[in-house]
Formats: sequence, structure tokens, C-alpha cells
Amino acid sequence: MSETHTNNPLLENLRIPGETFTLPSLGMFYDDDVIDKSIVVDGEVHVYPMTALDEIIMRTPDKLFSGKAIAEIFGRCIPGIHQPMRLFAKDVDYLLVCLRKVTYGNEFSVEYKHNCPDAKKHSYQVDIATFLKQSVRIDPTTVGQLYAATLPNGQRVSLRPSTYEDIVLIMQEIQVPKDDGDVNEQALFDQQVQAILSVIKDVDGVANPQFIREWITTIPAGWVKVITDAIEKTTNWGPVYKLPIKCKDCGTDLEIFVPMNPVNLFM
Ligand SMILES: [Zn+2]
Repeated sequence: MSETHTNNPLLENLRIPGETFTLPSLGMFYDDDVIDKSIVVDGEVHVYPMTALDEIIMRTPDKLFSGKAIAEIFGRCIPGIHQPMRLFAKDVDYLLVCLRKVTYGNEFSVEYKHNCPDAKKHSYQVDIATFLKQSVRIDPTTVGQLYAATLPNGQRVSLRPSTYEDIVLIMQEIQVPKDDGDVNEQALFDQQVQAILSVIKDVDGVANPQFIREWITTIPAGWVKVITDAIEKTTNWGPVYKLPIKCKDCGTDLEIFVPMNPVNLFM
């Protein structure tokens, strides 16, 4: 942050407005080194607007791709977040929309072209508050059963939601070079393993990532499916990326998919 002059009269009565939001995860599962639980209580965070510098950083492709943009900006705009990269991806998506709202206001426009005859591409105004309201919070009463899978041999797998860092890693692995234009099976397999590993907290209490990696590549495919089915059931919370609009050509009420990623929100 740039230095401020303590006797600058312009800053004296400046109260940067922010807003309080509740993380879809309710702050559950986080270790104390990720969020400061004396500041973030029950998943409530205060979000301050981005500055013009933050805006530039948010629009820097390299920093977005590496996750550094999120790490820097969340660190500055959201008090109590010690390690933004280790926030759950769903919380990060939600917080990006919160940042957009406190920085630029409630209105947001998306381009959309319906498939009705003679449809044209139009710009539609959507309400960011609506988007935030329809986000689903995690259900604390079912968390214990949902975030676990028991295998036929009795081994118990504890799951956790994937973090922003996990997603950045997986996205980077998608760029793995292909062998002579063929799909590289090993790379594909590694990517699948990485995606599963990213949501395993421990197996029978063992959290060592090397041990878990070796184990997951050894167990039968059917057991892996038990785990991926369990993972599937844990995804029913977080932001909902659909918004209602009325087609400007035919007047039909529609629900459109609006990916709330940094490119859409801040470019
Ligand atoms: Zn239409």
C-alpha cells in the first residue's frame, strides 16, 4: 500500500465504505492460519472496495493465471484473510462478486444472444445483489456425513472443499504438453488424481500427500468411484451462476448462465 501523509486534509474524513457478507462456507473447515477467527466470525467478512491499483492488478493476465492477483487484492480488501490462496474456490468466487459490488455498485451487464429466430446479441442488466442472495450456504448439520466416504475395506476418507490454490494448480496442469498431438494418458491421469487429491483431507487420519497419492493410484478403480461419487455430493453449496432475464427479441423469460470469473467481472 502506498504511504499516506498523516496531515492530508483530503483523507481526514474519508471513510471508505465497505460491506459485510457471509461466506458460503460459513468459515467452516478453515485452519486459523488461513482466516483469523477473531475477525472472521461465523464466516462474516467485511469487504472494502478495490483501488485503481487493485483494478490494474486484477486485469493482469499473468497475475490472474498464477492466482497472485487474488492473493494480493483479497489480502488488502478483506481483513482477516491471512492466506487467500487457501480459501475454498466457492468462497473466492463469491467474494469476487462481493468485491465487484462494493467497488462498482449493484449493476452488472452481460451480453447474451438467445436462440429464437432473428435473435441478436444484447446487453442485459443483472442485479448483483440477486446473484449474491441466491448463493447457497453450506448446511452445517450435514457436513459431517457429506464430507466422508467409507470404502469396502473399511478405510475412511475425509473430504474437504477444493481451495482456490487447488483450482489454480489444476488449471495450470491442463496446459501440459501433448505427445505428438495424441492425448497424453499419463498427464490426463495425473490431472484426475490431482483433482481427487485436492479434496481429500485425510485417509484414516493420515494426511501425508505422498502417501495418499501412492494409495489412490493403487486402489481399484471402483473404490476411486466411491470417492468421486462422495465428492459429487459435496458440491451442492456455493454461488449459483444462473440469472433470470427476459429475451429482448422474443420476450421469453430465460435463465442464463453467468460465469462470475475475474475476466467477466473486472475486464
Ligand atoms: Zn428470444
